[in-house]
Amino acid sequence: MTIGEWHRFVEKTLSEAGLDNASSEAKWLIASTLGKENSFVTLHPTYLPSPREEDKIQEWLGRRLKGEPLSRLKGVREFWSLPFHLNEHTLDPRPETELLVEGVLKWIGKRRVDPWRILDLGTGSGCLLIALLHELKKATGLGIDLSEDALTMARSNAALNGVDSRAAFQKGNWGEGLDGPFDIIMSNPPYIPLKDKETLEKSVAQFDPSLALFGGEDGLECYRILVQDIKRLLAVGGLAVLEIGCGQRKDVDALFQRANFKTLFLLKDLAGIERAIGVQV
Ligand code: GLN
Repeated sequence: MTIGEWHRFVEKTLSEAGLDNASSEAKWLIASTLGKENSFVTLHPTYLPSPREEDKIQEWLGRRLKGEPLSRLKGVREFWSLPFHLNEHTLDPRPETELLVEGVLKWIGKRRVDPWRILDLGTGSGCLLIALLHELKKATGLGIDLSEDALTMARSNAALNGVDSRAAFQKGNWGEGLDGPFDIIMSNPPYIPLKDKETLEKSVAQFDPSLALFGGEDGLECYRILVQDIKRLLAVGGLAVLEIGCGQRKDVDALFQRANFKTLFLLKDLAGIERAIGVQV
């Protein structure tokens, strides 16, 4: 079968399975299995893939039909217009998480070349810290994660994006054992309530690591720890920015207020959900 025919077959199969963008996904899937750009499929419809290439197309199609997100098939995801590799121990970075980077940059304003000291708690793929280091050329940062496998990924992502000389990654349980102060602390902690586990979207529940998703019974477990750790580690006049789950703004705000933090800003995602909170001691 030519890749033109493969394209039509994969597109039909994906669209019958109810996927949006079946045509472009099909093109991407075929091009990627061949190690080519998407345009190859359009420009060379008569190319005949080898049996090995055909097996790979079938395999990826099967995985996609079982709900595996494209970014996991690719093993790479774009965040803040930078490439990040993923493995099964890293959360697939979401576009709304870019709000945290935006929040920090707005707060920083013109002070872009100050030697900011940044801490990223629960760094995963490293996307938050690496995006910020990419923007702030004199900043240095530390990324903490419980998972060694996530840290390995974060280190290689830092190198991939040219910020490895200013980034360190270290295994740890939130801020435990760390010494501050840090000027900027960021975190996208697990915040999904355990009780929502059953109703989670398949692509999230099956392919994102549980460790990065669930924040105890009420989803707020990690914020309770983070409030204390941030209190101890944040420099006076520094900024902490955290991602929050849908409907958690009041509760998270209250936790910080109780510890005498001041809320500096709240940012909404494209769906109008309050997604990022900026606080200061
Ligand atoms: N933002 C992810 C989701 O909605 C959850 C990740 C997290 O808990 N921080 O699926």
